Amino acid sequence: AAKSLGRNNYQIFEGSAEQSQQQNLALKSGLRHAEHKGELRVFYQPQVDAVTEDIVGMEALVRWEHPELGFIGPGFFIPLAEETGLIVSIGEWVLRAACRHAQEWERRFGLGLRLGVNLSAVQLMQPNLLEMVSAALDESGLEANLLEMEITESISIKAAPNLVENLQGLHRLGVRIAIDDFGTGAASLDYLRKLPADRIKIDQSFVKNIGVDPDDEAIVRATIEMAHRLKRGVVAEGVETEQHMEFLRANHCDELQGFLFCRPLPQPVFEKLLLERQRLLAGISGTAA
Ligand code: C2E
Ligand code: MG
Ligand code: MG
Ligand code: MG
Repeated sequence: AAKSLGRNNYQIFEGSAEQSQQQNLALKSGLRHAEHKGELRVFYQPQVDAVTEDIVGMEALVRWEHPELGFIGPGFFIPLAEETGLIVSIGEWVLRAACRHAQEWERRFGLGLRLGVNLSAVQLMQPNLLEMVSAALDESGLEANLLEMEITESISIKAAPNLVENLQGLHRLGVRIAIDDFGTGAASLDYLRKLPADRIKIDQSFVKNIGVDPDDEAIVRATIEMAHRLKRGVVAEGVETEQHMEFLRANHCDELQGFLFCRPLPQPVFEKLLLERQRLLAGISGTAA
């Protein structure tokens, strides 16, 4: 059933380590104008319930539709945006667009889908982060508890001014917090202890090794169990095979995200998916009645 969520491919330019200095400079200046030229897009990837495989949320993932290069992936341009400080306005643009889309889907389909949005470390240190997030919620009308901000453990809690205060402030607004790429940073457990995190996202580098490396399997299992003992939810990222899914399900992971179910989709395509799902459900209840 999950595979009916679609397997569309969107070719994305990821850049490479050999990217020349010159190319980077050109891209940085292009990035400066990408937002007001309307070249940024938000794609959405479903998150599904591990047991029912039903959609329960989606992660917003930004792409840059470059006039010559086509779609450029965030793994490539987000670091450039962080270096130049552009991430602050790009991140705000993504959040506002994603909240608008999510509220529109909520109005049309009423599924209570949770919206995950990535926050860069640079944004987390902004003194006006709370005002920015509140404004995005207010202007879209999206309920705060449908928004989940995903943070990575790439920054040290001690070294980041405003980080803990900002996250506590978000929590007070009713926004949820997820620790992204869990297990890959240097301070996972410290994060878990000190930050108001509702959920853990198990990094795909561990999930990829399910069925391959027993040590990584042990880490996945232990992470799920630890999250549950701490009364946190767990999502696994990068679920690509039936074997990954079976293992995660057997070990009581709450939610799954990955190519096995669906790739990140452009907004109109994701919307079609929700519409189809609604038709399907209406069809089922139609025959039952
Ligand atoms: P992330 O937040 O950990 O997002 C998950 C990444 O894994 C996405 O890559 C997604 O397309 C990819 N993915 C999902 N399922 C699978 C799978 O089954 N197999 C594999 N191999 N990959 C899968 P994407 O979209 O290229 O994003 C990369 C990273 O860029 C994100 O990692 C996130 O850290 C960052 N990013 C994306 N959008 C934003 C944004 O709006 N703001 C910020 N600050 N960072 C963003
Ligand atoms: Mg994420
Ligand atoms: Mg991740
Ligand atoms: Mg990542």
